[in-house]
Amino acid sequence: MIVKTTSTDHTMKIGERLARKLKQGDILLLTGDLGAGKTTFTKGIAKGLAITDHVTSPSFTIMSQYPGEKVYLYHFDLYRIEDSEEFLELGLTDFLYGNGVSVVEWSEKLEEYPDEYLSIDIKLDPEDAESRLINFTPQGSHFKEILEKLSQEVF
Ligand code: ADP
Ligand code: MG
Repeated sequence: MIVKTTSTDHTMKIGERLARKLKQGDILLLTGDLGAGKTTFTKGIAKGLAITDHVTSPSFTIMSQYPGEKVYLYHFDLYRIEDSEEFLELGLTDFLYGNGVSVVEWSEKLEEYPDEYLSIDIKLDPEDAESRLINFTPQGSHFKEILEKLSQEVF
């Protein structure tokens, strides 16, 4: 499913709507160039999980955690890690596969993927600085169902 967003707020709104359908243990794997909107999208997710803390990019810390109304958000940013071996050394896998909602920016650095996840690729629009194309690819039936519901909502 590909969704075109036309503003920062629009991208956040889609993240917010998606977040309301998520449950404990769900993993979202984000890809896309620097400035595509991965952190913006994650801020929307945080809003949808009723997180009141200010969500920033965890580039230096690799992972930040935020308590939501029902579940924790584990926000990963793998930009600064070399490879999946370095990720394993950090000992953060228990969070990634933990009992919160995990969102991973630069997820292409991982070599091992979970059995079920939602892949979200964000592309810049060369013709419009405020537009993005968000491509959702579900892995597993749980995320297929979520996408079906999401696609019925108006964008
Ligand atoms: P990333 O985490 O992928 O590097 P960020 O979310 O940090 O990207 O930055 C995206 C930037 O692009 C922000 O400054 C945001 O305001 C801007 N922007 C403009 N239009 C959009 C849009 N439609 N969706 C998301 N971000 C947008
Ligand atoms: Mg980012």
